[in-house]
Amino acid sequence: MAPFANRSGRRAVTLLLAASLALPALALAAPTGETVLPPELLAKVQRIVDADSARLTAVFKDLHQHPELAFTETRTAGIIAKNLRGLGFKVTEGIGKTGVVGVLANGPGPTLWFRADIDANAVKETTGLAWAAKGPQRMLDGSEVDVMHACGHDAHATWMLGLAKAMVALKSEWSGTLVVYAQPAEEVGLGAQAMVDDGLWERGFPKPDFALGAHTAPIPVGVVSNSPGVRMAGNDQLDITFTGRGGHGSTPQMTIDPVVMSAQAVLAYQTIISRNMDPQAAAVLSVGAIDAGRDNNVIPGTAVLKLNLRWFTPEVRALLLRRIDEINRGIALANGVPEADLPTREMKGNSGPLVNDAELVARINPSLVALLDERRVIGNFPSVTGSEDFQEAFAPLNTPYVFFLIGVAPPELFAKAQAAGQPFPYSNHNSDFFVDLAAIPLGAKINTVAALSLFRKSP
Ligand SMILES: [Zn+2]
Ligand SMILES: [Zn+2]
Repeated sequence: MAPFANRSGRRAVTLLLAASLALPALALAAPTGETVLPPELLAKVQRIVDADSARLTAVFKDLHQHPELAFTETRTAGIIAKNLRGLGFKVTEGIGKTGVVGVLANGPGPTLWFRADIDANAVKETTGLAWAAKGPQRMLDGSEVDVMHACGHDAHATWMLGLAKAMVALKSEWSGTLVVYAQPAEEVGLGAQAMVDDGLWERGFPKPDFALGAHTAPIPVGVVSNSPGVRMAGNDQLDITFTGRGGHGSTPQMTIDPVVMSAQAVLAYQTIISRNMDPQAAAVLSVGAIDAGRDNNVIPGTAVLKLNLRWFTPEVRALLLRRIDEINRGIALANGVPEADLPTREMKGNSGPLVNDAELVARINPSLVALLDERRVIGNFPSVTGSEDFQEAFAPLNTPYVFFLIGVAPPELFAKAQAAGQPFPYSNHNSDFFVDLAAIPLGAKINTVAALSLFRKSP
């Protein structure tokens, strides 16, 4: 996920900063008392995770040093499976290629599924950290690619192992079934669906009553953003192919130029957002690549446009796709393309919007406030145009879920950037992105407290 890698994302970060550091009025109201985990239990969580902190930090550094791209996370999955087995979880490996599911039955009660995504990014790390990724990763086809955990999924996996250990140690404090699972290939948006397609819900695992997931964010360590409702946009990746008629660059009248059609399409697409959509709605349409031709003096036969869409409602998605088709057809016909060669649209991947269950958020946040501080739990943050595939695993079951953001930026560096009027420099997917080590035990605590809050109903 790259929740902050766009313009509205930057605005959102600024808002979050204001909320977390300067404007307590935007933060969550003080806990009401009855739904808060008791102080003794919070203290126990602190003690248990603190005692596990050195191990977790070592696990995190090891995972960071050995990043693996989507669907190749075999080493990472192996470490997780071994860890969970050692804790007494019933472990199944190889779901959706490299997914791992661990089940811990602990008496009657609800079933919670907790997710960590585990894949890394094709980014050459420049952090200079002692535990930075070393050298490129050899791919299945023999090629070598620089790989880095630039989205903090190494922290997600570590947090999950910290939570698993703490929940085992705290078995007498909760009742129900905890399922923790490692999801492959979030970065390519295919991992959750791959697990579902590999029979995730037909393998006899206990079905979830609710689900929980968390993501690193370039906000200060100790700050959590957990808000109800639509959090992240739906996402589509699609390729448009314009077919023309290739020929010599000196005689364009003999050709139908797909490069010209592509240029017309790129500009016309932007009028969908500015002219066709309700101005109160939001969507993004980006053309990330244009693939056409090689030579200066050859008009190619085809051009492929690689599009990415972000949207918040199915109606807007349908409008975007319909208008893209209409624009493509109109441009092709205006350029003299015959009916048989009209542009094609290939859908390559999709996820729906991420929508947090309001009741679950309300059950978790008071205990997070008790753990962190009233000003450090943001409960009313605006949605962002970043996307996730976490929710796709639960779409077939309509499971209510919560997905929140955990700060991993060093607070002092963060405050310095803010004082200088600049955004925090290392956002997710940046080659300098890093997770402050203080966020490792704290993230495990935050996730454990969130899980306990769901198992312990208010009286
Ligand atoms: Zn991510
Ligand atoms: Zn990412």
